[in-house]
Amino acid sequence: MLICGSVAKTSYAEVAVPLHVYQTFTYRLNAEQSMEAKAGSRLVVPLGRTVVTSYIVDILDELPLSLTETDIKDAQTLVDTDPVCNPEILELARWVADYYACPLGEVIKAALPPGMSPKARGASFAKPKLRRFVRLRQPLDSDEEKLGDAQRRALATLESNGPMALQSLLKTSGVSAATITSLEKKALIEVSLEAVRRDPLSDSLGIKSEVHTLTTPQESVLTQIEQQMNSGTYSAFLLHGVTGSGKTEIYMRAMNKALSLGRSAMMLVPEIALTPVFSRRLRARFGDQVAIFHSSLQKGERFDEWTRVKNGDARVVIGTRSAVFAPVKNLGLIVVDEEHESSYRQQESPYYNARDVAIVRAQKESATVVLGSATPSLESFHNARKGKYTLLNLPERINARPMATAKIIDMRTVFARHGKPRVFSDELLDAIRETRERGEQSIILLNRRGYSSFILCRSCGETVQCPNCDVTLTYHRSERVIVCHYCNHREAVPRVCPSCGKKYIYYVGEGTEQLEEMLTLLFPALRVARIDRDTTARRKVFEQSLADFSAGKIDTLVGTQMLAKGHDFPNVTLVGVVSVDVGLALPDFRAAERTFQLITQVAGRAGRGDRPGRVLIQTYHPYHYALRHACAQDYESFYDEELRYRQNHSYPPFVALASLLVHGPDLGRVRSDSLELRKQLDAANEERKCRMLGPAPAPLSRLKGEHRFQLLIKSRNRKELRRVADAALKNAVDGGMNLRTVNLEIDPVSIM
Ligand code: ADP
Ligand code: ZN
Repeated sequence: MLICGSVAKTSYAEVAVPLHVYQTFTYRLNAEQSMEAKAGSRLVVPLGRTVVTSYIVDILDELPLSLTETDIKDAQTLVDTDPVCNPEILELARWVADYYACPLGEVIKAALPPGMSPKARGASFAKPKLRRFVRLRQPLDSDEEKLGDAQRRALATLESNGPMALQSLLKTSGVSAATITSLEKKALIEVSLEAVRRDPLSDSLGIKSEVHTLTTPQESVLTQIEQQMNSGTYSAFLLHGVTGSGKTEIYMRAMNKALSLGRSAMMLVPEIALTPVFSRRLRARFGDQVAIFHSSLQKGERFDEWTRVKNGDARVVIGTRSAVFAPVKNLGLIVVDEEHESSYRQQESPYYNARDVAIVRAQKESATVVLGSATPSLESFHNARKGKYTLLNLPERINARPMATAKIIDMRTVFARHGKPRVFSDELLDAIRETRERGEQSIILLNRRGYSSFILCRSCGETVQCPNCDVTLTYHRSERVIVCHYCNHREAVPRVCPSCGKKYIYYVGEGTEQLEEMLTLLFPALRVARIDRDTTARRKVFEQSLADFSAGKIDTLVGTQMLAKGHDFPNVTLVGVVSVDVGLALPDFRAAERTFQLITQVAGRAGRGDRPGRVLIQTYHPYHYALRHACAQDYESFYDEELRYRQNHSYPPFVALASLLVHGPDLGRVRSDSLELRKQLDAANEERKCRMLGPAPAPLSRLKGEHRFQLLIKSRNRKELRRVADAALKNAVDGGMNLRTVNLEIDPVSIM
């Protein structure tokens, strides 16, 4: 007779692995594991010759028909009994994997804080940080014990402060660890290990939160959002509000509303650069309920913030891209600020766009989503026009502050006048000087994408190229090195030309470093600082420069696009854009849209205080429609013109777009694989509903030592596009192609 009806049953786990592998795998669980394993838990399994930490995506009572017991292996260790990935997140991850055609394991990995899936066996899993804590055991009665001075000091400190972390006790009382040990032996104190929270915002205490009385337009926008939130069903808004129109205040109120409805709120922001500033304001408003997610936090901080959200201790999440997967419970609102930003798109597998994932998550969880921007993406504005999103407008700045006036400076005439190219027109230089004389501040922006200083031989005309990538190396004056911005290859500046051996090395182009130097030379009294990718690598330096600028210790800030966004400096009355032309000329169908957005955003930086601002744009293409409409601050006219261009040339939002990138060290192989893919695509395209382009060398044709070829697929029918792409890839694999060398990108944001 069986005891209690049944023997423990064996079951099987279907797992996804955090690798660029599309299929899932099945493993046998032992009796104990069978009872405890759940979908969303981590499971250590043997895979090939190694061992990986996988994620359980399903528990099966029986083997699928395609497998037999001898086909499968035993799982090793079940890491979690409480799944790290809850059912909602697992479902969202499945949607992402399916829509973007990327491996489920990669998506789950991206959804979790880093360090949750160590590759090697025995490597430690992310754990809470433990710290020694000291507390008094007995009321202090120094007569009873013969205590030394140091011991007394330690006890007195504890008495006045209460329980303390060991490290701060040692510091505050100035005693050694040995003193503490002896007090512990005497049983006067207790030392225990306790989990500490690593708080990335611990320094935000002094920040005050101002709460404004809403203006009438703000009120009307908020009311519409709140009404939808009350209904508890999915709704989507596009908030088109000019810079300075008070969108942020609306986001905060709506988040507050979510909390008061007993739900949670999430806010996604594009740039790491603006998270610290803004998240402190949120912390000031919502206190400890705020958790912050972004990639420049340390691993431990990220783990702790994630845990607080998972436990339900934090109900407001602010973060960059991957925060869209935060395990918030009962999500009521997602705000996507600056929704047009391309940094919502992950630029490596799994390729997903957090804005679009946010929409889907809101649908699945019956939440409200608010996309906000001064320059909505063409796609989102198109969706609003078609009625998929409710359009909300804030056309005016708070307090009717005037918009900055923008003016184009025609660099062709500057060139004609001087007979040679100039970096700064006289008009811009005069403006910088006058602004300084009035005690106001300026921002000088260099559109650095693909634009930087490099070295050229004046004798043979050669530039110095990266040995691994198809780009010139960028000159960094302060370190006297040349660096590849793709693979980080560095070398010392050559004394002679590597090609011809002559010594006529010449520096071309203006990096932000040179702009800074030129300004300092021209105006010795001008206090100039620089912010760009090189200095932002160091978060503290970056924040310090912004703080100094904000405090008026710097007159002119020189930097790249990142300066265009989010920051609020009331004393800035001049923004100069040194060169927009490189951005306009990029081989990308979104080049005009990006340029329009850049100028509009940057104009939003000028004149946020009481004085009007002005923007000067230097260009060799003064009649370009993106510049004209940006100067007129006329989004809708730009939108209409750009939309016609997209329609005429069959680009999104009129077609679905996918790109296939074939990469590898062997040029012949890359070329033949991409030709084979084209053949398979054509074969799968019987109904002729897709249009193929390529293969052609990708605009960046060599990267990190690999050659790159690109194919584009366009179709008015998204389902058909996917069917054709999937069929072609499957046939290519059946024919022996290795898919690890092929990246399929659905809805690529840039086709470079
Ligand atoms: P946006 O996010 O649309 O660029 P912000 O929310 O940053 O605009 O608002 C611009 C400025 O106006 C900020 O300094 C903000 O504190 C202020 N502000 C916002 N709403 C109000 C209000 N109702 N009354 C007064 N000032 C406001
Ligand atoms: Zn390189």
